[in-house]
Amino acid sequence: MNLLTALGFAVFERSGEASFRLLGPAPHWLPAGSVTEAFPFLEVFLPDAEEFWADRGARTALYSDLWTQGGATGDELHFCAIAVAGERKLLLIECAEQRFQQARSFVQYAHEASLAREQIAKLTQAKTEFLARMSHEIRTPMNALLGMVELLSETPLNDEQRKYLQVFQRAGDNLLNVINDILDFSKVEAGQIDLENIEFDLAQVIQEAIEIAAVRARAKGLALVNRIQPNVPTLLIGDPGRLRQILLNLLGNATKFTDRGELTVLVETDSDQPVPGALHFAVSDTGIGIPADRLSTIFDSFSQADASTTRKYGGTGLGLAISKRFVELMGGKIWAESKPGAGSTMHFTARFSVADAPKPVAEGSAPVVIRNRGLRILLADDSEENRFLIRGYLKDSGCIIDEVENGAEAVEQFKQRAYDIVLLDAEMPVLDGYSATREIRALGATPIFLLTAHALREARARSFEAGCTDHLTKPIKKATLLEAINKAVPAASVSDRIHVPVEAWLKPVVGGYLEKRRGDVRKLRAALDCSDYDTIRMLGHQMCGTGGGYGFEPITEIGSALEESALASDSARMRASIEDLDRYLNNIQVE
Ligand code: ADP
Repeated sequence: MNLLTALGFAVFERSGEASFRLLGPAPHWLPAGSVTEAFPFLEVFLPDAEEFWADRGARTALYSDLWTQGGATGDELHFCAIAVAGERKLLLIECAEQRFQQARSFVQYAHEASLAREQIAKLTQAKTEFLARMSHEIRTPMNALLGMVELLSETPLNDEQRKYLQVFQRAGDNLLNVINDILDFSKVEAGQIDLENIEFDLAQVIQEAIEIAAVRARAKGLALVNRIQPNVPTLLIGDPGRLRQILLNLLGNATKFTDRGELTVLVETDSDQPVPGALHFAVSDTGIGIPADRLSTIFDSFSQADASTTRKYGGTGLGLAISKRFVELMGGKIWAESKPGAGSTMHFTARFSVADAPKPVAEGSAPVVIRNRGLRILLADDSEENRFLIRGYLKDSGCIIDEVENGAEAVEQFKQRAYDIVLLDAEMPVLDGYSATREIRALGATPIFLLTAHALREARARSFEAGCTDHLTKPIKKATLLEAINKAVPAASVSDRIHVPVEAWLKPVVGGYLEKRRGDVRKLRAALDCSDYDTIRMLGHQMCGTGGGYGFEPITEIGSALEESALASDSARMRASIEDLDRYLNNIQVE
């Protein structure tokens, strides 16, 4: 019994009707009085215990729930009662502090785990929103910057200026890649990333990365050496953008943490994996180095070698983590070697496929031009820079551009005249691009492009839901815009345009007149649907009387056909005339 006491049990035996005798010494926590006086909770448990003693079945013990009450010293304690089966009716009271603590931590753990799940879901949501927001905020000014560079590159420049501009352009493109890659980072974490698999020239990717890094390296007086071993295949299939991103990260770090000496990029075949296309890259510097105990943790997200790094050198601690994910997706690994004070080498391996034949030389170099001249484009964007940019892109295309500053103005303007293309910025005051798309779509099938800074899939889905023809992500390149326009407006459709010369003073009136006729198309269709031929006859009659007066003979002709066919209840002819009217109104170009 002493052992049981030491383990925290008081042992009682049922000695008579509802009376219990303590066996062995009384533990220090046992309150005074009989067991039922000491533990009022037993009132609940004892009837069950009696039943158990009378018919215990296969069980050897019956446990009560835990309960809490004051012990002998007045402290709050937790107890459990156990009825033990056997010849004698034994009742054990356990001072169950340890079990209680375990149970409590378990419940708390379960509670925290469920809270954590909720929090993680909320945080993930917040993170996606933050990334979408951030990419939007950065992409909008980037759009203007990169666009201006593109326009600048089309002006007369001397060789030196052209070279600077190329570096600017590449650096901008790469900055954009970084933004995209940060978006990718969250996708990688969610296991959602797809690497590209395209043919590329390894030497060119390395050269580009080095040229960008060289601007800063040169400014710090560092030499930059590029050593691609001769047996390395240079025409590969893989993801050149991500490879360049890794190299830029490593070269960026090497430059940042080095004040004198040189940076080297080495590429050789991976001696551990004797398959074609398995490569080993090493970026070395002669900089401050990395302490031995941080060599592996620097690859964790938001990790820097020591707390003073951000203050001294800036950075987020995300570059190496992103690089690590990409390297792993490329079937390789990444690791660091370093001697503090002497320099570091970042190694990584990656597996590519080797491309068979060299690419044709001239591919992709022909500039895109707009096939159809004289397209009329409606452009709505509240940003003066972005409008300027699009105007610049379309400068030599022979397009006529009408500019407005918000969605509501775009809808109004659209009602005034026929357009071949509508370009709408997604985020505009008064009426945003999505709502404007919906309204314009309800008026006709003109191609509508939504221009957004959002690269996320949801943004695309939202644009298409609104009814746009295509969704263009800023920064928009000139070629992308021109190609999209060419695709949306087939070469033939422009020849269908009907040019009607109208004197300047009449134009405002004519706009309103045509707008009313567009409204008539909707009314006529509705009337035909419910066989309301009177309305059709009346509308036809009005058109017949007015069209020619404004210079639109076909409207008069269609009006008279409508009047006649309504009188004859010839629904097929009415339908054909309504479609003729719609087509005429869509193709008319007032000049
Ligand atoms: P960031 O450079 O934005 O801080 P990284 O993930 O690229 O983030 O790098 C993490 C950390 O690893 C750096 O903050 C730095 O402490 C260390 N590090 C990376 N490359 C080098 C290098 N070449 N020399 C010295 N330290 C480095």
